[in-house]
Amino acid sequence: MKDSMASISQVNLLKQKLHLAKAALNELDEERNEKLQTLLQFIGHLSLACKGQNLELDNKLAKLRQLLTKFENVEEALPELVEVEQLLKQQYNHVMVQLEDSRVSLSRVIRQIQRIDSAPDKVKRELNYFKKELVKPFHTFWDYIPKVEQLVSFYEEILDDQLKQGTPILVSPKHRQLAHELSQMISEVEFRKHQRDQVLTVKDILSSDIEVDSLIDAYQTILTLLLDNIAREKTASQEFLYALNDSLTAVREVVTDSYNNNQRSFQLKKQLNREINSRVDNVGEAIIDIDDIHSLKSQVTEQLSAIRASLGRKEAVEEREQILLRKSMESMRKELNELGKEATTYKERLFEQQKLNLLDSLTQLPNRAALEERMDQEFRNFQRQKLPLWVAVADIDHFKTINDSFGHSTGDKTLQVIAMALKNSLRDTEFVARYGGEEFVLLIPEVNAIDIEQLLNRVREKVKSIPFKFKNQRITVTVSIGAAQILENELINETFERADAALYRAKHESRDRVIIDV
Ligand code: GH3
Ligand code: MG
Ligand code: MG
Repeated sequence: MKDSMASISQVNLLKQKLHLAKAALNELDEERNEKLQTLLQFIGHLSLACKGQNLELDNKLAKLRQLLTKFENVEEALPELVEVEQLLKQQYNHVMVQLEDSRVSLSRVIRQIQRIDSAPDKVKRELNYFKKELVKPFHTFWDYIPKVEQLVSFYEEILDDQLKQGTPILVSPKHRQLAHELSQMISEVEFRKHQRDQVLTVKDILSSDIEVDSLIDAYQTILTLLLDNIAREKTASQEFLYALNDSLTAVREVVTDSYNNNQRSFQLKKQLNREINSRVDNVGEAIIDIDDIHSLKSQVTEQLSAIRASLGRKEAVEEREQILLRKSMESMRKELNELGKEATTYKERLFEQQKLNLLDSLTQLPNRAALEERMDQEFRNFQRQKLPLWVAVADIDHFKTINDSFGHSTGDKTLQVIAMALKNSLRDTEFVARYGGEEFVLLIPEVNAIDIEQLLNRVREKVKSIPFKFKNQRITVTVSIGAAQILENELINETFERADAALYRAKHESRDRVIIDV
């Protein structure tokens, strides 16, 4: 009796142990689920990072994100992941095809130009060089390409003309128009630092009385510079896509692996659980069936060691699972880090590009686009706070004379120096942009009507005091300024119009002065 009581309490102990083992198992399951959840979140974020590359891809990724909100949907999401990966590949191909099209059309135009016998030798040599360059596929900044194509088509036009008219060629209004268009285009393109001198020389040539030959040369030079840029610039977005594609592939593999491992472990553990349960049942039966306490003892001992062995195997399975999961997480983390780095560089480059788009390349002052943005912002501030806001337009006096007497490059340098002086004469909250040519717009908030005239006169005097020396000649350059304060119920463009009208009056009152519209 005593023995059988002991056996029963031993069995109870065993049951308790089993219970604890089950609880530990559940805990492990939970931990694993948590880790898989992290994994799914990662895929979700990864797909968000990829947004905006392509509409179809966006839609697929949105669906994928939705599917992956639940861990149970992993299986359902796997085919989607495969499709996303394919779409990413297609996106590459699309980019590559576009690049190739541009390259082919450039080659075609160049072949056409080469057929023209009368083209100058220098042009022919350069064309040969370009042709060789164009054999290599583009892996590069294809934003430049439409510009190059446009340029080449201008160039084609000049040569077409030359062909029609025969030599010598007279300068026609069309040529002047082409010179003007090239000049416009140059100011829209951001050239690299060491190219700027060459660009300035071309600008000089284009602004003087142009000859057809020098027009062709000018196109030639700009074309060379742009092709040079194309060859050098890397596409940030393409690199980003590459990285993203690699990451997605890695993630898919990890998800598939852990899913498969999970399935296998699940089967194994189910089997082990069955084994353990049947052992426990056996012990129970033994207690009921066996009268002989000694054989009961040996039976229970045997069952116990079998259960211990099963539990040991179960533990091993779980441990293996843990190791696999840890490995997956580790490789995932690495991918994520890589991608994070890639995304940061990508963002930095985009930011740089955006900054370039808002800066005037000659003076490095904000350009007209930036001015419009700032005017909107100041206008909104004014509507909220009703604090004074002034718009001033400054225009360099007789600037054409500087160009005419000392050349266009001197004119450009003068513009740079004056731009710097204007910027330095303002406080941080005040703003100056190059509006165009030799005109600048100032936005001055929170200055009252009594002080504005003094402030603007200080700006005017500052420019006037710059010690310019051209060809050993001391030159004073002055500006005229017109300004107006924004009125209640007025749009800021109307204020600008009044400031511009005041500038017009300043010009008529012999220049070098400030006129405030009242
Ligand atoms: P005013 O006192 O009436 O303003 O006379 P102005 O000569 O300054 O004005 P006008 O509008 O007759 O001429 C402006 C000149 O500015 C003509 C143009 O060639 C020159 N210009 C415009 N943009 C640039 C530039 O980027 N570089 C250089 N060097 N000159 C420029
Ligand atoms: Mg002027
Ligand atoms: Mg002007």
